[in-house]
Amino acid sequence: MVLIFIDIAEDGNVKKSSLEALTYGAQLAKQLGVEAQGVVLAPATEDLSALGKYGVSKIHQVKNDSLKYFDAQVYAKVLAQAVEQSGATVVVFSNNTDGKAVAPRLSARLKAGLVAGAVALPETSNGFAVKKSVFSGKAFANVNITTPVKIISLNPNAFKIEEGTGTAEVVELNATVDAPKVKVTAVKKQSGEVPLAEAEIVVSGGRGLKGPENWGILEDLARELHAGLACSRPVADAHWRPHNEHVGQTGGAIAPNLYIAVGISGAIQHLAGVNRSKVIVVINKDAEAPFFKAADYGIVGDLFEVLPKFTEAVKQL
Ligand code: FAD
Repeated sequence: MVLIFIDIAEDGNVKKSSLEALTYGAQLAKQLGVEAQGVVLAPATEDLSALGKYGVSKIHQVKNDSLKYFDAQVYAKVLAQAVEQSGATVVVFSNNTDGKAVAPRLSARLKAGLVAGAVALPETSNGFAVKKSVFSGKAFANVNITTPVKIISLNPNAFKIEEGTGTAEVVELNATVDAPKVKVTAVKKQSGEVPLAEAEIVVSGGRGLKGPENWGILEDLARELHAGLACSRPVADAHWRPHNEHVGQTGGAIAPNLYIAVGISGAIQHLAGVNRSKVIVVINKDAEAPFFKAADYGIVGDLFEVLPKFTEAVKQL
């Protein structure tokens, strides 16, 4: 059986990246000729039985106040029990922030091989070879998992969500839940209205913006496009923007449908986190900026002139 970890967002809905993992897990189960099931730990507001339309027959739900806020250690221990009780042989996560934290812990607990950052369904005719991107997206590797239980985390935006019909049976799973070592006293939304990892469109700013006081023009465009906000590392290091917006080799890795880079030079360490974007638009006053080599569309010009016009044009659409 293939068990898919379903990540719940702060609003109680299933995260888009988990819907991708659900589709992926259901298709993998079909390929293996086994059932696909899901597991939900955080409190969800949406009707979980409706997740059957993504191809899962059953949803295991653990109801416990200690699971309200994501805690990788607590979650890993509960998920290990879910795997043992359900008899799952493959566990699928999204390789999003939560998946990155919990999948390796589950892998260590179960002594199960893990491939993080899968980009396609595994080749299962002779073994279990999972394709993943390596060297910051410059190459692919096929990694064979040989342990009885196998864990895969799927890169966000690497797999298309597919809906069919059907409902899932929702069952309560009895599990021992530890009290988290970290007590959450308040939850604050740090920045842009659209969470970066879930955003279809991302507007990103670099040192070219000169200072935090100029971010308003970037926020205007992001609002019009319903986009998430990101930034280069020096911008976060200088505290112009919070660190959760920093993308690149040492920051978040994102793969939106559209990435708009404003006043960012395009250093290789920055590209490492954004080069899986489907379409890249670069706005830079220096025609020789390296980012233009990775761009699908480029505007050579002063961002302080270009950006307001860009936003105005978007408003007219
Ligand atoms: P700059 O390189 O200073 O570029 C600013 C750009 O803005 C220039 O191209 C300039 O032409 C343009 N510009 C200036 N004024 C205007 C204007 N008025 N209108 C239009 N364009 C304008 N960086 C990351 O981003 N993410 C990482 O994860 C990361 N990890 C790193 C890890 C290591 C080990 C190292 C060594 C470096 C890492 N870096 C990372 C840093 C990276 O090498 C670059 O230094 C950084 O990405 C540059 O940020 P920037 O493009 O905002 O700034």
